[in-house]
Amino acid sequence: MTRILQVAGPDDPAIREAASLLCAGGLVAFPTETVYGLGADGLDPEAVARIYAAKGRPATNPVILHVDGLASARALTSRWPVEATALAERFWPGPLTLVLPASEQVPAIVRAGGPTVALRCPAHPVAQALIKAVGRPLAAPSANRSQHLSPTLAEHVASSLGEAVDLILDGGPTEAGLESTILDLSGARPRILRPGPVAPAELAALLGAVDLWKGAVKLGETQAAPGMAERHYAPRARLELVVPGSGLPANSARTAYVAFGQLPPLPDSIRGILLPLDAEAVGTRLFALLHELDDAGFECVVMERPPEDEAWMAVRDRLRRASAKESV
Ligand code: AMP
Ligand code: MG
Repeated sequence: MTRILQVAGPDDPAIREAASLLCAGGLVAFPTETVYGLGADGLDPEAVARIYAAKGRPATNPVILHVDGLASARALTSRWPVEATALAERFWPGPLTLVLPASEQVPAIVRAGGPTVALRCPAHPVAQALIKAVGRPLAAPSANRSQHLSPTLAEHVASSLGEAVDLILDGGPTEAGLESTILDLSGARPRILRPGPVAPAELAALLGAVDLWKGAVKLGETQAAPGMAERHYAPRARLELVVPGSGLPANSARTAYVAFGQLPPLPDSIRGILLPLDAEAVGTRLFALLHELDDAGFECVVMERPPEDEAWMAVRDRLRRASAKESV
């Protein structure tokens, strides 16, 4: 059985135990304010290799390093533009990841062989205490098998990764529920690689213009921006996105219908689920809901397309990827 320890706060003795495991090259899953991370010593290539093995993550997909603040982040880069300071001061600790040219200290496996490193200072008190206790950056991608749903509860980690993880710190449900916004500052213009809880408008307010990377690559191809595989975050159930009011699915066996704001009339055979017309609340709840529907044995989840405005960008991104067809 995977060991799960409840953590009440940053002073909990479980954090010391987790830190010793990490210092010895082990894997510890821990809560952040976005989703649960699968942590390893980010400067130890063998420990980071265990993350890739546990997740079944392609070697082409780099991992984010989690740090305790701006100074530690800066030490891991070879160039730190002024915008990085402004962004870190405004959004850290918090759900914003910055991609910057890496210093030689960053192992190749963390960068997937590329020239850049992704850095974030998480806001969750348990994550912060753990990084401080280890005294080194923690590599920590989401604590799930590659391409599967991200974990927002300790139980999700246990069922996805099982014995592959040495210890899970259980800090309850995560707050944001969606992975961090990733902003690439290594090129000529700032570019969002992954939409997330920090909205483009918030970044643009500070940076002036910000580009949005809209492309996606098929798995197996060399990734233009690493980790941007089209199918990602997927539940076991087939997920179909439909235009609201466009009619009901023909095959209703083991089907759930998810609507925003208002549920249409449904036959008894279809389970209706109503989510609020509130992008932040839906972001917090989305992965947990898909986990629950998987656990309840639903084969098909029909979900109405969320609104087109910017507030829903991160939710739309995850749903698009979760509903993408498996590539061959
Ligand atoms: P996750 O596994 O959910 O934590 O995802 C981490 C994300 O960060 C993936 O989409 C990675 O591709 C992305 N990432 C990590 N390092 C880099 C980097 N150096 N450049 C661009 N994206 C990165
Ligand atoms: Mg992930």
